[in-house]
Amino acid sequence: MKIRNRLTLLFTFITASILLIFASVIYLSAKENREKEFYASLKKEAITKANLFLNAKVNSKTLQNIYKNNRATLNEVEVAIYDTSFRLLYHDAVDIDVVKETKTMIGEIIQKKELQFYQKDWQVIGLKYNFQGKNYVITAAAYDEYGYKKLQNLLQSSIVVFIISILFLYFAGRFFSKKAFEPIVEMTNKAKKISATNLDLRISSNESKDELSEMANTFNEMLNRLENSFDAQKHFVSNISHELRTPLSAIITELELSTNKERSVEEYKKAIENALDDAKKLAKLSNSLLDFAKASYDPLEIAFKSVRIDEVLLDARQQVQKSNADYKVTIHFENDFENDNQILVNGNEYLLKVAFVNLLENGCKFSQNHQSQVSISFVENKIALSFSDNGIGILTDDLEHIFTPFYRGTNKVYADGNGIGLSLTKKIILLHKGAISVSSKKDFGSTFSVTIPHV
Ligand code: ADP
Repeated sequence: MKIRNRLTLLFTFITASILLIFASVIYLSAKENREKEFYASLKKEAITKANLFLNAKVNSKTLQNIYKNNRATLNEVEVAIYDTSFRLLYHDAVDIDVVKETKTMIGEIIQKKELQFYQKDWQVIGLKYNFQGKNYVITAAAYDEYGYKKLQNLLQSSIVVFIISILFLYFAGRFFSKKAFEPIVEMTNKAKKISATNLDLRISSNESKDELSEMANTFNEMLNRLENSFDAQKHFVSNISHELRTPLSAIITELELSTNKERSVEEYKKAIENALDDAKKLAKLSNSLLDFAKASYDPLEIAFKSVRIDEVLLDARQQVQKSNADYKVTIHFENDFENDNQILVNGNEYLLKVAFVNLLENGCKFSQNHQSQVSISFVENKIALSFSDNGIGILTDDLEHIFTPFYRGTNKVYADGNGIGLSLTKKIILLHKGAISVSSKKDFGSTFSVTIPHV
């Protein structure tokens, strides 16, 4: 069942229950009032007749005639007067006698002074009445036709009003829930139209700060993020194919040239060397991409353990110097570490080494002296590393882009590369809950500052 219908039914049910309770209370109190009022009027009638009989000495015949005459048109009260020893002094109509008094009943009236009860539908009141020092027992009975009719009318009109109200409430509920859900239906319809090919569509939200427009805004923000990441993904793929195509075309051209006519051994050797160079570039690119994919895994899937940063750095230095005999890396400890914990981080050794190798390699590759320095220091809860070189530096305009995948700075002509290194490095550092920043001055060198929290 749709929420809209559920809400309408719930709303109708709750309001109907309140109405029902309300109507029942009114009906029950009207019923109780009718009973009380009728007993009160019976009492008055009983006393009046007793006074007429005892005080005004109106004779029985006259009183009985009045009763009989009135009975034809109204529900006249039937009164009987007894003395305390159950001797009947007066009766409106002995032949009818609704109450059918008994000695025990009279005794009970004398004892309780007043007795109220029902005889079938008739209400009866019994009174102990004192006149001129003598006690009498009066009973009065009548059927409250007028009161019952009123009550019946109240019940009927309550039922009719109740049914009409429920219908009205149901349709009003439907109308209001439809109005309330209109924006959601609109959002759903709009959301159905959004797919990977038209991620630029947005859900309309009004200016008011209500929950629905907040939801629409949140949804739109999510779409913004999705669109950005889709765009980045598309860029990434086209960049990869471009990076792959360049060395591949170079290898193909090189090999084609060397096969289309007879060449000297020297020329063959040169062609093979060039092809090898390009193949190495391809291998490097594919390794970097693989590392990039690894660093993009869900952090929960990456094995983290306690890693000694100095050991990773030494490994990275060895790898950099081995890959290029001209490169030189020096490591400098700013302060002596007092215990092993200071040099430990919770990390992935392989990925950390990839990050450090990138930074060291960049330092050597973009410097004339092919040298790069790392200084390491321990501050409270983290390790701070500074990778610096005295190389060609980075233009200020490039600084904000160098961590973007495939971005190569204006100085790229100086050295080969594919623009993945720094973006990969940043990903790895962030994965370790660390931070990386750069400062650089053209022709003076660059410094990459990295901090990684301890275990
Ligand atoms: P690549 O080195 O393959 O070009 P990176 O992602 O490692 O790609 O670096 C991106 C860009 O940042 C480089 O192209 C270069 O312009 C700049 N860069 C990085 N490190 C240095 C550095 N130490 N000195 C000068 N420029 C650097």
